[in-house]
Amino acid sequence: MMELRIQLIPTGEIIMPPGKNGENYCHSCTKAVGSDGVRITMESALTARDRVGVQDFVLLENFTSEAAFIENLRKRFKENLIYTYIGSVLVSVNPYKDLEIYTKNHMERYRGVNFYEVSPHIYAVADNSYRSMRTERRDQCILISGESGAGKTEASKKILQYYAITCPASDQVQTVKDRLLQSNPVLEAFGNAKTLRNDNSSRFGKYMDIQFDFKGAPVGGHILNYLLEKSRVVHQNHGERNFHIFYQLIEGGEEDLLRRLGLEKNPQQYQYLVKGNCPKVSSINDRSDWKVVRKALTVIGFNDDEVEELLNIIASVLHLGNIQFGGEDSGIAYITTDTQIKYLSRLLGVDGLVLKEALTHKKIIAKGEELISPLNLEQAASARDALSKAVYGRTFTWLVNKINDSLAFKSYKNPSVIGLLDIYGFEVFQHNSFEQFCINYCNEKLQQLFIELTLKSEQDEYEAEGITWEPVQYFNNKIICDLVEEKFKGIISILDEECLRPGDASDITFLEKLEDTVGGHAHLTTHKLADGKTRKVMGREEFRLLHYAGEVNYNVNGFLDKNNDLLFRNLKEVMCMSENTILTQCFDRVELKDNKRPETAATQFKNSLAKLMEILMSKEPSYVRCIKPNDAKQAGRFDEVLIRHQVKYLGLMENLRVRRAGFAYRRRYEIFLQRYKSLCPETWPTWEGKQVDGVSTLVKHLGYKPEEYKLGRSKIFIRFPKTLFATEDALETR
Ligand code: ADP
Ligand code: MG
Repeated sequence: MMELRIQLIPTGEIIMPPGKNGENYCHSCTKAVGSDGVRITMESALTARDRVGVQDFVLLENFTSEAAFIENLRKRFKENLIYTYIGSVLVSVNPYKDLEIYTKNHMERYRGVNFYEVSPHIYAVADNSYRSMRTERRDQCILISGESGAGKTEASKKILQYYAITCPASDQVQTVKDRLLQSNPVLEAFGNAKTLRNDNSSRFGKYMDIQFDFKGAPVGGHILNYLLEKSRVVHQNHGERNFHIFYQLIEGGEEDLLRRLGLEKNPQQYQYLVKGNCPKVSSINDRSDWKVVRKALTVIGFNDDEVEELLNIIASVLHLGNIQFGGEDSGIAYITTDTQIKYLSRLLGVDGLVLKEALTHKKIIAKGEELISPLNLEQAASARDALSKAVYGRTFTWLVNKINDSLAFKSYKNPSVIGLLDIYGFEVFQHNSFEQFCINYCNEKLQQLFIELTLKSEQDEYEAEGITWEPVQYFNNKIICDLVEEKFKGIISILDEECLRPGDASDITFLEKLEDTVGGHAHLTTHKLADGKTRKVMGREEFRLLHYAGEVNYNVNGFLDKNNDLLFRNLKEVMCMSENTILTQCFDRVELKDNKRPETAATQFKNSLAKLMEILMSKEPSYVRCIKPNDAKQAGRFDEVLIRHQVKYLGLMENLRVRRAGFAYRRRYEIFLQRYKSLCPETWPTWEGKQVDGVSTLVKHLGYKPEEYKLGRSKIFIRFPKTLFATEDALETR
């Protein structure tokens, strides 16, 4: 058998580059790679390519075939190679098990190394962004997308850890690093929950800026949060839980603390925690998580008083949930559970009687006069839940602000920035409501950005290199974004209009308006047909959007309420009177004076997304596309149907097509020449002239046809992977 000595092959992890101190190893032969590369047999090199697939999808021979794409993903997944590139986009498949690929050694391996020299990794993306930021002085952002449970949050944590460990540090920087890292357990405690899809599902969107000084040390951070799923505070579906913090407090809280808060050590005692019938989760240890969160709060800079007030609020929400009402017969609600009022009054520092009154009455100001009317049972229960949601939601925002204060770096002007976006992926459930509508709209916006930026950057590179190319046809989902967000005739506008309309406005009248206004739109379907007949397949309360990722039926039930997100005035007043200083920051008296309606939830979301797009557009993006391999959260299971669906809606085939439409491969002249110069007598051992001329001589000698490549200003562009493979093979058989 012929033995080969290979230093670097850019086509896969068949052969690893020379390693420092032998810490790299070759995936095909599991041999350590020393400082002079690795020796492997020809046979193992070839079977390795078969076994582990290609590390960059652009190298797939059959790049338009979805089956080939998925097969490559499968091969790699089987070998625990969860990362694969499409050019510079990282595709990641959740392994659902701990892999030994996140050690300090691994971090070192990716530091300052070129993308193609090492196997694909989240650290390579992190490092690449960091280096671009440093060398080009351009702000970066890393956009992580994928459906719930695909590994977005884990990916963002890995990136943060990479910076925390590999970036330079001083004492002051260490504090920032600690705070950046510790902000995660806190935000997860208050914003994550166990769902059917993910035991640690983020129920809010998060964009985090990490700020660096001129030495490349992290000096601060800033978090923007998006649309917390507040409805979870008062209701959970079967098999799901409320936000982690409630269980952590109950399971982990010290006895004294629980006594003070009036809490029992059993989550099943609380109405807000029993709906999903799922108090314990095998993968979660609430007790030890409590300790982590408690410590993290201190690291971030919460003092004891603030923690006390925060926990008073969390306990109060549980007490609120246990408030019950009587008055079925009379139709006038009254409170039957005085103990809860007692606790609430003490924990929040509010007058019990005033609170009781506010929970059972509605106050309206009309023509300068106060009108008070009693609530019936149902209204009182929904007022109580609205209060719980408002208190929790605003406390969450307060928490984010507080973390931001602690991350703010005051003395450094104009830091360089890397932004991390970890935001909910496209969601399709059996029953889709207002929340899914917002989440999927957000994904439309991100897809639009993705298309624009990937196409644009590809085009920019060709332009910079002076290469002509043919633009690729792709589906521009702007039409769907417009359908949702356009002024006057977009879905959000129509919804807002119904929310503002006095009188008989309801979820159904909203649907009817939709039918009247945009009923004929190519991407919207309702129950009603143009000829006045009805469509059997759709419920009367539904509208269907044809998203770029597929069809979703939305049930309009609750749209108006959720969009209005109203809290009765007298409940607001009580909160403004609270002695809890967190609540007084959350409920501002100005709100009471100002009789103007607050912006609706959808409009607020729309505006915050528009700002987010602006932020992202101003930075250089990198993409991590996460894929969930199965619905059972199991290691080693590769569910092809599920994966195919994600490949489709993440637009990966389209992405690959764009990447391949021009040139599959590009290399800087000096790198290309260095690697292949031995294949041509005129370039070996050294080429004295200009690099571009050397490359030109070399490829002509190799027999490249004119249509196979182009020479740009600094790089050679190769159209087909087979050309490069042939050159690689020539190197091997030389
Ligand atoms: P998402 O944020 O996309 O909803 P998460 O990042 O929370 O998903 O991942 C869900 C779960 O999958 C995690 O709690 C973890 O158990 C597992 N997981 C995700 N990524 C990895 C990884 N790279 N290695 C090991 N396990 C992972
Ligand atoms: Mg998440």
